[in-house]
Amino acid sequence: MTMSGSYDIRLVLLSVFIAVMASYTAFSLAVRIAGTTGKARFLWLSGGACAMGIGIWSMHFIGMLAFSLPVPITYNTGITFLSLMIAISVSGFALYIVSGRNLGLFRLLAGSSLMGLGVASMHYTGMQAMNMSMKIRYDPVLFASSIVIAIVASIVALRIVFSLNQATNGNLQKKKILSAVVMGIAITGMHYTGMAAARFPSDMNGVGTEPIDTTWLAGTIGLATFMILTITLILSLVDSHLASRTAGLVRSLKAANERLHYLALHDGLTKLPNRTLLEDRVEQAIRHANMASGSFPLIFLDLDRFKRVNDSMGHHAGDKLLRDVAACLSEPLKPDDTVSRIGGDEFVIVLHDPGDPRKVHEIVQRLRDCLSRAFTINDQPVIISASFGISMYPNDGTTFRALLVNADSAMYHAKSKGPNNIEFFSAAMNANANLRIEMENELRRALENDEFVLHYQPKVTIRTGCIESVEALVRWEHPVRGLLLPHDFIPLAEDTGLIVPLGAWVIQQACREARQWQNAGLPRFRVAVNISAVQFLQKDLSDVIMGVLRETGLDPDCLDLEITESLLMHDPEGAMKTLSRIRSNGVHVSIDDFGTGYSSLAYLKQFPLDKLKIDRSFIAEIDKNPNDAAIVRTIITLGHSLNLQVIAEGVETTDQFTILKDLDCDAYQGFYMTRPLPSDQLAELLKNDLKGCR
Ligand code: C2E
Ligand code: MG
Ligand code: MG
Repeated sequence: MTMSGSYDIRLVLLSVFIAVMASYTAFSLAVRIAGTTGKARFLWLSGGACAMGIGIWSMHFIGMLAFSLPVPITYNTGITFLSLMIAISVSGFALYIVSGRNLGLFRLLAGSSLMGLGVASMHYTGMQAMNMSMKIRYDPVLFASSIVIAIVASIVALRIVFSLNQATNGNLQKKKILSAVVMGIAITGMHYTGMAAARFPSDMNGVGTEPIDTTWLAGTIGLATFMILTITLILSLVDSHLASRTAGLVRSLKAANERLHYLALHDGLTKLPNRTLLEDRVEQAIRHANMASGSFPLIFLDLDRFKRVNDSMGHHAGDKLLRDVAACLSEPLKPDDTVSRIGGDEFVIVLHDPGDPRKVHEIVQRLRDCLSRAFTINDQPVIISASFGISMYPNDGTTFRALLVNADSAMYHAKSKGPNNIEFFSAAMNANANLRIEMENELRRALENDEFVLHYQPKVTIRTGCIESVEALVRWEHPVRGLLLPHDFIPLAEDTGLIVPLGAWVIQQACREARQWQNAGLPRFRVAVNISAVQFLQKDLSDVIMGVLRETGLDPDCLDLEITESLLMHDPEGAMKTLSRIRSNGVHVSIDDFGTGYSSLAYLKQFPLDKLKIDRSFIAEIDKNPNDAAIVRTIITLGHSLNLQVIAEGVETTDQFTILKDLDCDAYQGFYMTRPLPSDQLAELLKNDLKGCR
């Protein structure tokens, strides 16, 4: 005779809910554990085992409380606690199994069986905790099926959780919830089957004193479990978030490192290797050449007219040009070759192939051809050229430095021969480099020793044939090398900054001599002085000029400054200020070598100017080349429309003169009238020439 109990449906539902939640927590933890190692893994495993164990156990205990017999029941604390321990151990074991790297069939079956048996043993131990006077008997079929259910549920659960661990896609959450529901129902199924297997003797009495309030107890346990599981879930969520953040940080740190490494070795503008990486590549090439007892060339390349583009079209245009050049240089090369940019407009190319000079020359020619087709910048065609210097390993140097320095010397040599030249290094070139240093020292000394003189070349008004002004052109009376022209020393003076004191001397000397001619009774005429960019950028240029005018007593109206157009375009705003200051004092300003830069007409219109001087390269063939004549015509029209006087430089022949006259050019300057003359000869000429004019 057995007695039958009844279930409190609310508690049954609570137990199912707890089971589902415990499963869900377990799944989340399994994923977490699989993602950690070492101590963290151990902590998560233990914590997870506790949370999940408590979850399963409390489901089971609430399930028991949901069941009421007509007699009061109490529970043995010791045995109840034992059943809890079993639940925790089983959970720990299960988590351990599923968080492993692989789950073979054997591992799955062995693990699930052990786990199923564990869950069952927890259940039946829990049942034993009921304090009753008589033993509970079990229906063998139901008893067996409860164990089978436990094992099957375990197989399903382990399989699911393991596959969740491997999954990476976005459906993870949905899968996890669904699996938790299946698993929760399986666990409760096992429990209630086990309960159904129990046969309670009808004469059984509750043992113990106080019967407990089951609903209250179940509620408390349920709530506590719920909280434990929730906290565990939150912890695992936070931890996984932190872990992915950390992983993200590690990833971005790695990316940043790689980027820094890249930046340290590449030129930001062209993305070509920089000098550091070049050095490395050259050292590699040296090792390679040594092994094969071969040789290789290092090619130094400098753009010829880059500064002009940069100054007149702006830095953006210059940058674009450099990028285009970089692309162009990479074109004819093999992947093993290195093109690098080591400064402004300087590129170095190292060829990997053994260096047969003839082959090298061929490749360099191809590079040159590539550069000489027109680039398009700001929708304008820009023609550039480059100078190439080549040094060969090991003949011209056995270290990176030596190769670079010698290729640089060769490049200088090439440049001095005019644009687009290619030079192989030769020992004689270094003598040249020494010459430069020597020249620099000499230039300093020349300034102290007053070795400079000015020659003057008249500018003639075409309509009247009268000299309107003279241009001062500096010469160096070198004690050993004789009379040197600006071409021989102005570039060096500009490079070394010596142009500033030299330029100041020129202004002073020109004003002084002009004043002397006036004092000697010659009529007033203007004297023009060339101002180089370095000089123009000095803040106090207008102070220097005004100081000299005051000191010499020359009328500002008698001084004309010749500046190049590229100088203006370099910093139009700054140039505008300086020019306005100079011009407001009455000094004249002319644009020299007009047509060779890339002036922006918009700016040109705004500058306070008096004259345009057409570059002599347009005049040289004006009588033979219709293009040049057309350009000169345009410049003249343009100048006149801007209210500027237009003067042509380098007029040597009657034909040139006649054409300019027909084109309505205002004035000319050139050998046609006279070469630049020393001041005494000029004074002679002026005396005669000006007679009929003033
Ligand atoms: P620039 O200002 O264009 O000067 C005109 C140059 O053309 C002078 O050369 C002059 O001798 C030359 N020339 C004049 N008529 C003819 C001609 O009919 N045919 C040819 N082929 N050439 C002619 P120079 O004196 O050798 O000066 C060259 C450049 O050096 C000047 O070009 C100017 O840019 C610069 N320079 C001269 N003196 C100074 C100076 O005191 N300071 C600065 N910063 N630069 C100067
Ligand atoms: Mg000039
Ligand atoms: Mg000129």
